[in-house]
Amino acid sequence: MRPELLNPLFRPVTSLAGVGPKIGEAFARLVGREAGEPPRVLDLLFHLPYGLVDRRNRPGIALSPEGAIVTLEVRVDRHQPAPAGNRRLPHRVFVQDETGEMALVYFHADKSWLERALPVGEIRFVSGRVEWFNGRPQMVHPDHVVDAAAFAALPMIEPVYPMTAGLPRKTVAKAIGAALDGLPLLPEWLDPALKAQQHWPDFATALGTVHRPAAPSDLAPDSPAMTRLAYDEFLANQLALALTRRTLRRAAGRERRGDGRLRTRIEAALPFSLTASQRTAIAEIERDLAGPERMLRLLQGDVGSGKTMVALMAMAIVAEAGGQAALMAPTEILARQHAKTLGPLAAAAGLRLAVLTGREKGRERAAILPRLADGGIDIVVGTHALFQDEVVFRDLALAVVDEQHRFGVHQRLTLAAKGAAVDMLVMTATPIPRTLVLAAFGDMDVSKLTEKPAGRQPIETRTLPLDRLDAVVERIGAAVAAGARVYWVCPLVEESEELDVAAATAREKALAEALGPVVGLVHGRMRAADKDAAMRRFVLGETRVLVATTVIEVGVDVPEASIMVIEHAERFGLAQLHQLRGRVGRGSARSSCLLLYKGPLGPVAHDRLAIMRDTEDGFRIAEEDLRLRGEGEILGTRQSGTPGFRIARLEHHGALLEIARDDARLIVERDAALGGPRGAALRVLLYLFGRDAAIRLVRAG
Ligand code: ADP
Ligand code: MG
Repeated sequence: MRPELLNPLFRPVTSLAGVGPKIGEAFARLVGREAGEPPRVLDLLFHLPYGLVDRRNRPGIALSPEGAIVTLEVRVDRHQPAPAGNRRLPHRVFVQDETGEMALVYFHADKSWLERALPVGEIRFVSGRVEWFNGRPQMVHPDHVVDAAAFAALPMIEPVYPMTAGLPRKTVAKAIGAALDGLPLLPEWLDPALKAQQHWPDFATALGTVHRPAAPSDLAPDSPAMTRLAYDEFLANQLALALTRRTLRRAAGRERRGDGRLRTRIEAALPFSLTASQRTAIAEIERDLAGPERMLRLLQGDVGSGKTMVALMAMAIVAEAGGQAALMAPTEILARQHAKTLGPLAAAAGLRLAVLTGREKGRERAAILPRLADGGIDIVVGTHALFQDEVVFRDLALAVVDEQHRFGVHQRLTLAAKGAAVDMLVMTATPIPRTLVLAAFGDMDVSKLTEKPAGRQPIETRTLPLDRLDAVVERIGAAVAAGARVYWVCPLVEESEELDVAAATAREKALAEALGPVVGLVHGRMRAADKDAAMRRFVLGETRVLVATTVIEVGVDVPEASIMVIEHAERFGLAQLHQLRGRVGRGSARSSCLLLYKGPLGPVAHDRLAIMRDTEDGFRIAEEDLRLRGEGEILGTRQSGTPGFRIARLEHHGALLEIARDDARLIVERDAALGGPRGAALRVLLYLFGRDAAIRLVRAG
């Protein structure tokens, strides 16, 4: 049960004074709640400003700089209403101070309202942006017009929030103000020593500071208020993961020891020998499986690093020990692909393998289910269909999940908790920086495949300005004449697939003119059949240069291709460049990658290309990507959290994550039931950040 003191925060925003149903709906869009979930007061409090307006500048009318936000104390001179019948002209109010005169300009204004707000002869304080028009200062629609009494209460520094249609700025500010005023007194969940050491304010003070900043530095990602809130969110995240993990671990594992007989046969059937990384990973898994605790291991490795083989060996170990294994792929296609590669190897070892996806129905499915139940199948490869109730195993010992770097991990772990003592191996296809692993999976054991399988040649990567295009085309021509096959990736044009296609089509034409009829084209707008045909011609060598938009990013395997040209490489992200480059270097020929850029390069784009030149290590590239993304954003462009987080941002707060991890580990060691006073406060924290599902695990234990 949610602690009662949190009730005011979990009420709908419409419970706040001045927020009706209509505004409530607009708030739902603003804070991004799902349809049907009314936004709560809490959601407003976590809706942080991305910048501020500083109204402290009070230069006087004549000295107000063009475009500046100023606050002026003025006397109202006269009104010049819009002429009757011409609503396009504004209502002007002329005001003055001792330095000069200016006009306050109102379009579509309510004349009588203006005359009441700005009575002739009275003193008013106005604040807004000054424009100089034909040598005269004016202020169009001032942000504030108040008398002396109201001015005393007007904040001179005003936070600026991401906006949505139908929500006036003042409405947002007022509602958030009301939410802050109603913030209940919450117990402190932080470790006092850590809090003191970091000079962090209380939770309420921190929220107050970011919503009512006194200076721009209050909103910087490294301010005490922001770091406190980010840490709170990390702690909730890590504590929830630690509790989940503990629950899984406590369902004691079974000790599964293989004798190696199946693995020996698989290795004998392999046309290659395992890499050292693969051997290390398999040994780590073997140790986990033999141990008394349940395995929770993440296998990280770049595309093509040979994760599937590691999975097969892990599954062979449990089969040697008499158990069954399941390999779960995210899609039907991938499940079939796995089954196709693993089938012959499994057969060579005498392992019985079956496929079970949504497509297996009727008789086929009816034939598989009993064999899973009686142990007649050792390995099943499938999709989510594997988790249906009718699917029963005789003795499921290992679940391998090919995770594809999209983290539905909470659910996956919870799923595993449903079964008996199933060991878990999660495979991720994209290298994930350490901090991201921690955020998504918590304190999980990790095996990494850091080498490429033998026989792969390094890719030589070069960067060249686009104005050397002619020389590049000439070089490609020579390579093609010598038998090479080339990918030519065309730029991404912002938000317009049509323009992408146009650029690619134009490039294809130009290359065909220069190189002859050896140039093909694929792009996202083509029909699937045409795409397949274009790919096939390239695979068969009928075309030798394949011009493409980024559609080739996924799932293309042409080992003969040895040259990758990326046009406008400065427009691609690091991860994307890495993926694209990975399309070459798969065969025995020496491969190269040409990154063509249009200068001048900004510092971030420059660094990105330099990293691509320096390394092929997907892990390093991923780390650098995260770092550059942090540097690429100046304060004010975006202030919401990394996906999965509302406030915390790994680029800025990543270092705090490890502190939170250790903190969470200690909490679970000392008081896993969250029964003590700090435990009670931590429950509040879990509710605040929507991680309260973990509390159910505590109770179940
Ligand atoms: P991943 O799933 O990590 O992207 P795969 O397991 O699909 O990679 O392996 C990619 C390719 O490399 C497959 O064709 C596989 O047979 C091959 N392969 C795996 N391990 C080795 C190895 N040690 N030596 C050579 N080739 C290997
Ligand atoms: Mg794979």
